[in-house]
Amino acid sequence: MSDPPPMVTRFAPSPNGPLHLGHALSAIIAHDLAKAGGGRFLLRIEDIDGPRSRPELAGEFRRDLAWLGLEWDEVPAQSTRLDRYAAVAEVLKARGLLYPCTCTRTEIAAARARAGNVGFIYPGTCKRTPPAPDRAAAWRLDSARALAETGRLVWVDDLAGSIPVDLSGLGDVVLMRKDLPASYHLAVTLDDAADGVTLVTRGADLFAASHVHRTLQALLGLPVPRWHHHALLTDDTGQKLAKRRGSPALAERRLAGEDGRMLAAQLRLQHLRLGT
Ligand code: GLU
Ligand code: ZN
Repeated sequence: MSDPPPMVTRFAPSPNGPLHLGHALSAIIAHDLAKAGGGRFLLRIEDIDGPRSRPELAGEFRRDLAWLGLEWDEVPAQSTRLDRYAAVAEVLKARGLLYPCTCTRTEIAAARARAGNVGFIYPGTCKRTPPAPDRAAAWRLDSARALAETGRLVWVDDLAGSIPVDLSGLGDVVLMRKDLPASYHLAVTLDDAADGVTLVTRGADLFAASHVHRTLQALLGLPVPRWHHHALLTDDTGQKLAKRRGSPALAERRLAGEDGRMLAAQLRLQHLRLGT
Protein backbone atom coordinates (compact mmCIF):
# COMPACT_ATOMS: atom_id res chain seq x y z
CA MET A 1 0.00 0.00 0.00
CA SER A 2 1.27 3.46 -0.82
CA ASP A 3 1.21 6.26 1.72
CA PRO A 4 -1.57 8.84 1.43
CA PRO A 5 -0.35 12.01 -0.33
CA PRO A 6 1.03 14.65 2.07
CA MET A 7 -1.41 17.30 3.15
CA VAL A 8 -1.38 20.59 1.24
CA THR A 9 -3.35 23.54 2.61
CA ARG A 10 -3.47 27.15 1.52
CA PHE A 11 -4.29 30.69 2.58
CA ALA A 12 -5.70 32.66 -0.33
CA PRO A 13 -6.22 36.32 0.55
CA SER A 14 -7.49 38.95 -1.88
CA PRO A 15 -5.46 42.15 -1.74
CA ASN A 16 -8.57 44.32 -1.61
CA GLY A 17 -7.79 45.58 1.87
CA PRO A 18 -5.49 44.83 4.80
CA LEU A 19 -5.58 41.55 6.71
CA HIS A 20 -7.49 41.42 9.98
CA LEU A 21 -7.74 39.01 12.90
CA GLY A 22 -10.13 36.70 11.03
CA HIS A 23 -7.57 36.34 8.23
CA ALA A 24 -4.88 35.62 10.79
CA LEU A 25 -6.98 32.81 12.24
CA SER A 26 -7.64 31.33 8.78
CA ALA A 27 -3.94 31.40 7.96
CA ILE A 28 -2.95 29.90 11.32
CA ILE A 29 -5.47 27.06 11.00
CA ALA A 30 -4.34 26.19 7.48
CA HIS A 31 -0.68 26.45 8.51
CA ASP A 32 -1.07 24.29 11.62
CA LEU A 33 -3.12 21.60 9.89
CA ALA A 34 -0.46 21.28 7.19
CA LYS A 35 2.45 21.20 9.60
CA ALA A 36 0.71 18.69 11.88
CA GLY A 37 0.26 16.43 8.85
CA GLY A 38 3.87 16.84 7.73
CA GLY A 39 2.56 18.69 4.70
CA ARG A 40 2.87 22.05 2.95
CA PHE A 41 1.16 25.37 3.61
CA LEU A 42 0.73 27.57 0.54
CA LEU A 43 0.12 31.29 0.10
CA ARG A 44 -1.78 32.34 -3.01
CA ILE A 45 -2.59 35.97 -3.75
CA GLU A 46 -6.07 36.21 -5.32
CA ASP A 47 -5.52 39.47 -7.14
CA ILE A 48 -8.10 39.46 -9.91
CA ASP A 49 -10.69 41.70 -8.37
CA GLY A 50 -10.19 44.44 -10.98
CA PRO A 51 -10.08 47.95 -9.61
CA ARG A 52 -10.54 46.73 -6.01
CA SER A 53 -7.28 44.79 -6.19
CA ARG A 54 -4.21 46.58 -4.77
CA PRO A 55 -1.18 44.41 -5.64
CA GLU A 56 1.05 46.42 -3.31
CA LEU A 57 -0.82 44.85 -0.39
CA ALA A 58 0.67 41.42 -1.17
CA GLY A 59 3.97 42.51 0.39
CA GLU A 60 2.14 43.59 3.52
CA PHE A 61 0.42 40.20 3.66
CA ARG A 62 3.78 38.40 3.58
CA ARG A 63 5.11 40.62 6.35
CA ASP A 64 1.96 39.96 8.41
CA LEU A 65 2.27 36.17 8.06
CA ALA A 66 5.96 36.21 8.95
CA TRP A 67 5.15 38.39 11.98
CA LEU A 68 2.63 35.76 13.11
CA GLY A 69 5.45 33.21 12.95
CA LEU A 70 4.13 31.28 9.93
CA GLU A 71 6.18 29.69 7.16
CA TRP A 72 4.78 29.07 3.70
CA ASP A 73 5.50 28.31 0.06
CA GLU A 74 4.06 30.84 -2.35
CA VAL A 75 2.31 29.75 -5.54
CA PRO A 76 1.56 31.99 -8.54
CA ALA A 77 -0.91 34.82 -8.04
CA GLN A 78 -4.20 34.58 -9.89
CA SER A 79 -3.38 37.47 -12.22
CA THR A 80 -0.71 35.26 -13.83
CA ARG A 81 -3.19 32.51 -14.63
CA LEU A 82 -5.89 34.33 -16.60
CA ASP A 83 -5.15 32.44 -19.84
CA ARG A 84 -5.80 29.13 -18.16
CA TYR A 85 -9.12 30.32 -16.67
CA ALA A 86 -10.19 31.63 -20.07
CA ALA A 87 -9.35 28.35 -21.80
CA VAL A 88 -11.37 26.33 -19.32
CA ALA A 89 -14.31 28.74 -19.49
CA GLU A 90 -14.33 28.26 -23.28
CA VAL A 91 -14.49 24.49 -22.81
CA LEU A 92 -17.46 24.85 -20.46
CA LYS A 93 -19.16 27.18 -22.93
CA ALA A 94 -18.62 24.76 -25.79
CA ARG A 95 -20.23 22.04 -23.68
CA GLY A 96 -23.32 24.23 -23.26
CA LEU A 97 -22.81 24.52 -19.51
CA LEU A 98 -22.62 28.33 -19.41
CA TYR A 99 -25.04 30.96 -20.63
CA PRO A 100 -24.47 34.67 -21.20
CA CYS A 101 -25.99 37.16 -18.80
CA THR A 102 -26.11 40.85 -19.65
CA CYS A 103 -28.00 41.95 -16.57
CA THR A 104 -26.61 45.18 -15.21
CA ARG A 105 -25.67 45.77 -11.60
CA THR A 106 -28.81 47.85 -11.28
CA GLU A 107 -31.02 45.04 -12.59
CA ILE A 108 -29.40 42.53 -10.25
CA ALA A 109 -29.73 44.98 -7.36
CA ALA A 110 -33.44 45.40 -8.12
CA ALA A 111 -33.98 41.63 -8.16
CA ARG A 112 -31.99 41.38 -4.95
CA ALA A 113 -34.13 44.07 -3.33
CA ARG A 114 -37.26 42.11 -4.26
CA ALA A 115 -35.86 38.82 -2.97
CA GLY A 116 -34.06 40.17 0.08
CA ASN A 117 -30.32 39.87 0.55
CA VAL A 118 -30.37 36.59 2.40
CA GLY A 119 -31.04 33.79 0.01
CA PHE A 120 -30.80 35.93 -3.11
CA ILE A 121 -30.17 33.84 -6.15
CA TYR A 122 -29.99 35.04 -9.73
CA PRO A 123 -33.54 34.69 -11.07
CA GLY A 124 -32.41 33.26 -14.41
CA THR A 125 -33.66 36.18 -16.52
CA CYS A 126 -31.09 35.73 -19.28
CA LYS A 127 -31.58 31.98 -19.35
CA ARG A 128 -35.26 32.38 -20.18
CA THR A 129 -34.70 35.25 -22.61
CA PRO A 130 -31.26 35.08 -24.24
CA PRO A 131 -29.77 38.57 -24.47
CA ALA A 132 -28.65 40.34 -27.63
CA PRO A 133 -25.23 38.95 -28.60
CA ASP A 134 -23.64 42.39 -28.99
CA ARG A 135 -23.97 43.33 -25.31
CA ALA A 136 -21.11 42.67 -22.88
CA ALA A 137 -21.95 39.47 -21.04
CA ALA A 138 -20.95 37.62 -17.93
CA TRP A 139 -21.23 33.83 -18.23
CA ARG A 140 -23.21 31.87 -15.66
CA LEU A 141 -23.13 28.19 -14.82
CA ASP A 142 -26.37 26.56 -15.89
CA SER A 143 -26.83 24.69 -12.63
CA ALA A 144 -29.64 22.48 -13.97
CA ARG A 145 -27.46 21.29 -16.84
CA ALA A 146 -24.48 20.86 -14.58
CA LEU A 147 -26.52 18.66 -12.26
CA ALA A 148 -27.76 16.62 -15.21
CA GLU A 149 -24.13 15.92 -16.15
CA THR A 150 -22.68 15.26 -12.73
CA GLY A 151 -25.55 13.45 -11.07
CA ARG A 152 -25.56 13.42 -7.29
CA LEU A 153 -22.30 14.46 -5.64
CA VAL A 154 -21.05 14.84 -2.11
CA TRP A 155 -18.21 16.76 -0.58
CA VAL A 156 -16.60 16.18 2.79
CA ASP A 157 -15.95 18.83 5.41
CA ASP A 158 -13.71 17.92 8.36
CA LEU A 159 -16.20 19.41 10.79
CA ALA A 160 -19.59 19.20 9.08
CA GLY A 161 -19.10 15.73 7.62
CA SER A 162 -20.41 14.50 4.28
CA ILE A 163 -22.50 17.14 2.47
CA PRO A 164 -24.70 16.37 -0.55
CA VAL A 165 -24.12 18.95 -3.28
CA ASP A 166 -27.02 21.36 -3.54
CA LEU A 167 -26.67 24.18 -6.05
CA SER A 168 -30.03 25.69 -5.24
CA GLY A 169 -28.56 27.82 -2.45
CA LEU A 170 -26.41 29.88 -4.81
CA GLY A 171 -28.22 29.44 -8.11
CA ASP A 172 -26.53 30.04 -11.45
CA VAL A 173 -23.28 31.64 -10.31
CA VAL A 174 -21.04 33.70 -12.58
CA LEU A 175 -17.99 31.78 -13.79
CA MET A 176 -16.71 34.42 -16.20
CA ARG A 177 -17.21 38.05 -15.32
CA LYS A 178 -17.89 40.81 -17.82
CA ASP A 179 -14.46 42.33 -17.17
CA LEU A 180 -12.46 39.15 -16.59
CA PRO A 181 -12.14 35.63 -18.06
CA ALA A 182 -12.88 34.13 -14.64
CA SER A 183 -14.72 34.60 -11.39
CA TYR A 184 -13.83 33.70 -7.82
CA HIS A 185 -15.46 30.26 -8.20
CA LEU A 186 -13.67 29.29 -11.41
CA ALA A 187 -10.28 30.68 -10.42
CA VAL A 188 -10.19 29.18 -6.94
CA THR A 189 -11.27 25.73 -8.14
CA LEU A 190 -8.69 25.61 -10.92
CA ASP A 191 -5.94 26.95 -8.66
CA ASP A 192 -6.58 24.55 -5.81
CA ALA A 193 -6.26 21.71 -8.32
CA ALA A 194 -3.16 23.20 -9.99
CA ASP A 195 -1.51 23.82 -6.62
CA GLY A 196 -2.22 20.29 -5.40
CA VAL A 197 -4.31 21.44 -2.44
CA THR A 198 -5.68 18.45 -0.55
CA LEU A 199 -7.48 20.32 2.27
CA VAL A 200 -9.27 23.59 1.50
CA THR A 201 -9.42 25.60 4.71
CA ARG A 202 -11.40 28.82 4.94
CA GLY A 203 -14.02 30.58 7.00
CA ALA A 204 -17.56 29.28 7.29
CA ASP A 205 -18.78 32.32 5.36
CA LEU A 206 -17.62 30.54 2.19
CA PHE A 207 -19.24 27.21 3.05
CA ALA A 208 -21.91 27.43 0.33
CA ALA A 209 -19.30 28.09 -2.36
CA SER A 210 -18.00 24.54 -1.95
CA HIS A 211 -21.14 23.16 -3.59
CA VAL A 212 -20.14 25.05 -6.73
CA HIS A 213 -16.49 24.06 -6.49
CA ARG A 214 -17.31 20.36 -6.05
CA THR A 215 -19.55 20.58 -9.11
CA LEU A 216 -16.79 22.18 -11.18
CA GLN A 217 -14.34 19.48 -10.06
CA ALA A 218 -16.75 16.83 -11.32
CA LEU A 219 -17.40 18.62 -14.61
CA LEU A 220 -13.69 19.15 -15.27
CA GLY A 221 -12.33 15.87 -13.92
CA LEU A 222 -10.25 17.61 -11.25
CA PRO A 223 -8.98 15.95 -8.08
CA VAL A 224 -11.35 16.36 -5.14
CA PRO A 225 -9.88 17.75 -1.92
CA ARG A 226 -11.43 17.74 1.56
CA TRP A 227 -12.67 20.95 3.13
CA HIS A 228 -12.33 22.54 6.54
CA HIS A 229 -14.63 25.52 7.11
CA HIS A 230 -13.82 27.04 10.45
CA ALA A 231 -16.13 29.17 12.58
CA LEU A 232 -15.62 32.89 12.29
CA LEU A 233 -14.19 34.92 15.12
CA THR A 234 -16.73 36.97 16.98
CA ASP A 235 -16.30 39.94 19.25
CA ASP A 236 -17.51 40.19 22.87
CA THR A 237 -21.07 40.82 21.71
CA GLY A 238 -21.11 37.75 19.47
CA GLN A 239 -20.95 39.77 16.26
CA LYS A 240 -18.76 38.64 13.38
CA LEU A 241 -15.45 40.46 13.55
CA ALA A 242 -15.19 42.76 10.61
CA LYS A 243 -13.06 45.72 9.81
CA ARG A 244 -16.08 47.98 9.70
CA ARG A 245 -16.54 47.38 13.42
CA GLY A 246 -13.13 48.77 14.06
CA SER A 247 -10.93 45.70 14.46
CA PRO A 248 -7.42 47.02 13.66
CA ALA A 249 -5.54 45.62 10.69
CA LEU A 250 -2.71 43.20 11.43
CA ALA A 251 -0.26 45.57 9.77
CA GLU A 252 -1.27 48.32 12.18
CA ARG A 253 -0.64 46.09 15.18
CA ARG A 254 2.62 44.88 13.69
CA LEU A 255 3.85 48.42 13.08
CA ALA A 256 2.81 49.40 16.59
CA GLY A 257 5.33 46.84 17.87
CA GLU A 258 2.93 44.16 19.11
CA ASP A 259 4.29 40.60 19.37
CA GLY A 260 2.80 38.68 16.45
CA ARG A 261 3.69 35.24 17.78
CA MET A 262 1.93 36.05 21.02
CA LEU A 263 -1.14 37.13 19.07
CA ALA A 264 -1.00 33.87 17.09
CA ALA A 265 -0.85 31.93 20.37
CA GLN A 266 -3.95 33.76 21.63
CA LEU A 267 -5.81 33.02 18.41
CA ARG A 268 -4.91 29.34 18.69
CA LEU A 269 -6.40 29.28 22.18
CA GLN A 270 -9.53 31.08 21.09
CA HIS A 271 -9.88 28.64 18.23
CA LEU A 272 -9.57 25.70 20.63
CA ARG A 273 -12.34 27.19 22.74
CA LEU A 274 -14.58 27.54 19.68
CA GLY A 275 -13.87 23.88 19.06
CA THR A 276 -13.61 24.28 15.31
N1 GLU B 1 -9.78 35.04 -1.86
C1 GLU B 1 -10.90 34.76 -1.01
C2 GLU B 1 -11.05 35.83 0.04
O1 GLU B 1 -10.11 36.51 0.36
C3 GLU B 1 -10.80 33.45 -0.27
C4 GLU B 1 -10.75 32.30 -1.17
C5 GLU B 1 -10.87 30.95 -0.49
O2 GLU B 1 -10.32 30.74 0.59
O3 GLU B 1 -11.47 30.10 -1.09
O4 GLU B 1 -12.14 36.01 0.54
ZN1 ZN C 1 -28.90 38.22 -16.80
